[in-house]
Amino acid sequence: MIYDVDRETLPREELETLQVKRLRNLCERVYANVGHYRRKFEEAGITPADINSLSDLKYLPFTEKQDLRNNYPFGLFAVPKENIVRLHASSGTTGKATVVGYTARDLNNWAELMARSFMAGGLSRRDLIHNAYGYGLFTGGLGAHYGAEKLGATVIPVSGGNTKRQVVLLRDFGATAICCTPSYSLYLYEAATEAGIDLRDLPLRVGIFGAEPWTDEMRYDIEQKMGISAVNIYGLSEIMGPGVSMECADAKDGMHIWEDHFLPEIIDPVTGEQLPPGERGELVITTLTKEGIPLIRYRTRDISRLNYTPCCCGRTHVRMDRVMGRSDDMLIIRGVNVFPSQIESILLETEGASPHYQIVVKKHGNLDVMEVQVELSENMFSDEIKNLQRLEGRIQKTIKEFLGVTAKVRLVDPRSIQRSEGKAKRVLDLRNEE
Ligand code: ADP
Ligand code: ZN
Repeated sequence: MIYDVDRETLPREELETLQVKRLRNLCERVYANVGHYRRKFEEAGITPADINSLSDLKYLPFTEKQDLRNNYPFGLFAVPKENIVRLHASSGTTGKATVVGYTARDLNNWAELMARSFMAGGLSRRDLIHNAYGYGLFTGGLGAHYGAEKLGATVIPVSGGNTKRQVVLLRDFGATAICCTPSYSLYLYEAATEAGIDLRDLPLRVGIFGAEPWTDEMRYDIEQKMGISAVNIYGLSEIMGPGVSMECADAKDGMHIWEDHFLPEIIDPVTGEQLPPGERGELVITTLTKEGIPLIRYRTRDISRLNYTPCCCGRTHVRMDRVMGRSDDMLIIRGVNVFPSQIESILLETEGASPHYQIVVKKHGNLDVMEVQVELSENMFSDEIKNLQRLEGRIQKTIKEFLGVTAKVRLVDPRSIQRSEGKAKRVLDLRNEE
């Protein structure tokens, strides 16, 4: 089922016509109302009148997270303060928080796009949605909340935390869908098992998971354990919040970016050059309709790829690949680039390892050393030492084979790695602490 058939299935040509019109209007708005952008346009020697096609996009300046920080808190807002009806702030995973503001129309668009996303993920107004994304400055909770209401579903605003109670609510209320981070779903699964509840016996059938990188292997693991269909949702507060793009349940192969509102590009993160369709690089997004804090060519630092081939679901909007990670999370271990998600794929394919892991990077002299700590699965726990050593060796060898780096692998006790109620912290970088 498609929420907004007219928009979601617009033929590419019409979609592009709409995008150009909105892009031009965006340029006019920021040029007139945001000092930062007017200066940037002047430095680049362009005016909004120069933007007449999508190929002119490349002449526009990038916006970086640092630009939001330099203009903290409200410097990039493009409307008078009294027109802003809500503020959010990024969770500050990578430094000082960045603040975003929404007009009433922005909030309505966001709810629409989340409703689209829920329906693409297989939900309808008949669903009961357990929303375990955190409510507050973080965009996850309220973003999903208003989307669920717009869809006409029933939303249970559980927010994050109090995991034991969440399990009881899942059982008692009989939610058919859950929203949270993929790592938190595994935490819930553990808590349920401990309480003697098999999630597979409950009405729960869909998980809308996002806000952090995860792999297809992780998806499979979660689907088996919880007896649900797990779909990927992507977003970031600077651009809107959750619902910038969403995987369709039909194909489960990439997330449709809602292109009538967001214009995506992939660039080479080093040179800033646009890359041809199909190549992997940094995702850059221009907000076409946002009023409160419109952004031009925002560098997300997320590594992905765009897929313009038609999708079996009938939606025409481009699909982005599962995000491999943020460029900031990329580890460079003795010259080799490694993303935590690559380690995750390997761990989940290895029998005996659990999906709970952490990567610790230290300095030994001048050399970077990577240690992968992975919890043993419960059934391996009491196994003989030599079997455990063999398992460590096997993981180490696979990492070397597939990623070309030497990692120290350390099996740790079940439940010894800290669980997160929101975004999991996969990397502990101790390189600057010694
Ligand atoms: P912060 O930047 O403080 O974490 P946000 O909550 O806005 O604040 O986080 C947005 C980021 O979360 C994205 O840029 C991306 O790195 C990550 N993210 C969101 N959804 C996904 C997803 N489905 N897959 C991978 N990463 C995601
Ligand atoms: Zn699709």
